[in-house]
Amino acid sequence: MTDAKKPMAEANRISAMLNTVLGAERFPVKVDELALEYSHQCFAGSPIDKVQGEDLDGFDGLLKANKTRSKWLILYNSATPSEGRKRFTIAHEFGHYILHRHKQDLFECGNGDIETGDNNGRNIETEADLFASTLLMPLDDFRRQVDGQPISFDLMGYCADRYGVSLTAAALRWTEIAPKRAVLVASRDDHMLWAKSNMAALKSGAYFATRRNAIELPMDALAHSHNIYGMGDITGRAQSWFSREPSSMPITEMTRAAGQYDYTLTLLLMPDAEWQRPQHDDEEAEEDTFDRFVRNGRYPVR
Ligand SMILES: [Zn+2]
Repeated sequence: MTDAKKPMAEANRISAMLNTVLGAERFPVKVDELALEYSHQCFAGSPIDKVQGEDLDGFDGLLKANKTRSKWLILYNSATPSEGRKRFTIAHEFGHYILHRHKQDLFECGNGDIETGDNNGRNIETEADLFASTLLMPLDDFRRQVDGQPISFDLMGYCADRYGVSLTAAALRWTEIAPKRAVLVASRDDHMLWAKSNMAALKSGAYFATRRNAIELPMDALAHSHNIYGMGDITGRAQSWFSREPSSMPITEMTRAAGQYDYTLTLLLMPDAEWQRPQHDDEEAEEDTFDRFVRNGRYPVR
């Protein structure tokens, strides 16, 4: 098994066990109890002995062994106001226990980067996040909640409630499985904090390298402070976000305050990259995708 698949496989194995014991309507996952019980049953010689909140200065969460490695402790930052963040942090530390405890005695995680996966490419942090999101929001159940429904932040908010996670974690999960190109952008003060593209968007070059560069939002972005239209849901031209997109390419943009209103989430949706140009000789006669959107009553603001 490759390293990339292991976090998902381990989380899915635990989910299958929970489905058997508790049935399908078992959400949100009681991850603190799960970490204690599962580790005691499966690894009785070195279980997780305690999960507790503490005022952790500069960390979101922590996993550490005692001197003889006969038991482990999970701490999460009790100062975090969001229950969803706490649950995700515990699941993340549980992930380190399942996947990485043979490598280290101490894992100090954060600050603020758990759940967004924005962790400077450190492999074990990405793996622990993947384990956590797979465990808390199993794909089969997640698909049952969202399939066939128009995407909106209300729908993602419903998922966040169901799984007891933050809106951000649910939106990231949805972005991963989005049927078309999707990019989730978090911003504050008109600049991107981080951005995640799904595979289809990534392959078409629609992504932002937020780790290396300070990237300002486009002036006409809904989340930009210059934009008088404020929050909502609009369709515009993809080019204003991604200069390499053809001018006919539409983009649907929706925004919502998140992270206890500390930042704004913008979800960008685009059709497949292939759906760009008519394959006919009489190209002029074809109405472009953008015009079709407008004609259907989805007016762009620009
Ligand atoms: Zn970690």
